[in-house]
Amino acid sequence: MTAPTTDIAPGLPTRGEVLVIGAGPAGSACARTLAQAGVDVLLADQHAFPRDKVCGDGLIPDAYAALARLGVLDDVMAQARPANFVGCVGPSGGRIDVPGTMAVLPRKQLDDILCKAAVGAGARMLPPAKFESPIEEADRVVGARLRVGDTSHEIRARWLVLATGAVPQALIAAGVCERRTPSGIALRGYVRNDAMVRRITALEVVWHRKLRPGYGWIFPCRDGVFNIGVGIAHSHNTLKNGRLGMKDVNLRAVFDAFVACYPPARELMASGTLQGELKGAPLRCTLEGARFSRPGLLVTGEAAGTTYSFTGEGIGKALETGIHAAQAMLAGRAAQAGDAAVRADYEARLHALKPRFDMYEKANRVNVYPWLADLVIWRAKKSARLLARMSGVLNETSNPGNLLSFKGLRRLFME
Ligand SMILES: Cc1cc2nc3c(=O)[nH]c(=O)nc-3n(C[C@H](O)[C@H](O)[C@H](O)COP(=O)(O)OP(=O)(O)OC[C@H]3O[C@@H](n4cnc5c(N)ncnc54)[C@H](O)[C@@H]3O)c2cc1C
Repeated sequence: MTAPTTDIAPGLPTRGEVLVIGAGPAGSACARTLAQAGVDVLLADQHAFPRDKVCGDGLIPDAYAALARLGVLDDVMAQARPANFVGCVGPSGGRIDVPGTMAVLPRKQLDDILCKAAVGAGARMLPPAKFESPIEEADRVVGARLRVGDTSHEIRARWLVLATGAVPQALIAAGVCERRTPSGIALRGYVRNDAMVRRITALEVVWHRKLRPGYGWIFPCRDGVFNIGVGIAHSHNTLKNGRLGMKDVNLRAVFDAFVACYPPARELMASGTLQGELKGAPLRCTLEGARFSRPGLLVTGEAAGTTYSFTGEGIGKALETGIHAAQAMLAGRAAQAGDAAVRADYEARLHALKPRFDMYEKANRVNVYPWLADLVIWRAKKSARLLARMSGVLNETSNPGNLLSFKGLRRLFME
């Protein structure tokens, strides 16, 4: 049991019904959903908002749907650049455009909209506060100890929600971390290049043997700005087999290789102006690496591994699982259910998403063997049915099945 402290930061609450740590997409979605239902919810983040978050800023259809559910899609689209397809480019230069409802909005803006939407619904946002440890009583989490400036401050709550993203520290402190190493890493920068605005009009994802085991992307924002980056989204098997550890990866060199091997990236960088620095960050994928809950505590968003392997996309599922966490707590509240029922409900909701994560984990083979991208692109160009299936998976309107597993790839030739 954690020793109590007598420090109280002046003016800060000491109690709330739910305390959400992390005001990224998962935490803000959770806080907004709870606040809309009348729950007294406190939202804490270590940073003052608006804050930057290293990301590709791509909003794929699952994010679109979750933003609509939260009632913030119009606010987001008022600032975002819409896109109607994702262009997939293989190592030999072949390309297929997969239709989907997508957009790009820098995270500084997106997360600010979401955080304000939570506060607008009634959530109480704390000044910058870093989660340090849970407060425990008889092995149940009953609140959290936060660092606010120089002060350690305790807040008690019926539920603590960790929505702290890919970094493992908060998970470790809360006793729910099962893997400290990231399952992927990625690096991005912003480039301004007005001359390329009409050339790159949708999300572009590029595979090449020089980017193994990863990929490069260019995502167009508004006002002539592009998000360009590279990611190494290891499959867990690749990591376990010890073929390539994160410490062996020089992402800056992978970025340079991307610029060298993909002509539009070369042109973008050569005639554009880099805005700020290239920045890297870890990824936590495939619903692995952390326990989803313990008594009094739920883990949501990327902290629970809700980022897709293969593409590194995770905003949509962070939003979705934040909503699921809120709904599980609300259902438990309405039924006056105990911890066990709420945890079981929440964990069942996450497990229901597992087949989709498993499909992306299998598809991660394309990053390891990029020639597979050539094969799929070549085949999809000939098969409207296959392209429609890929679009269905992207839009989450059809079951992922085993598309892009070895079995699925064999079947490509039957489509
Ligand atoms: C380079 C890169 C590119 C990516 N590109 C895309 C993309 O194009 N599209 C996409 O959908 N996904 C992308 N992702 C993944 C996406 O960024 C994550 O899936 C998403 O941010 C997860 O949201 P979240 O709310 O779970 O966590 P986060 O967005 O990471 O938010 C966590 C919040 O918790 C706070 N926090 C952490 N620890 C503490 C603590 N101890 N105390 C208080 N606060 C704390 C942080 O400050 C942060 O605000 C990318 C990731 C990277 C690294």
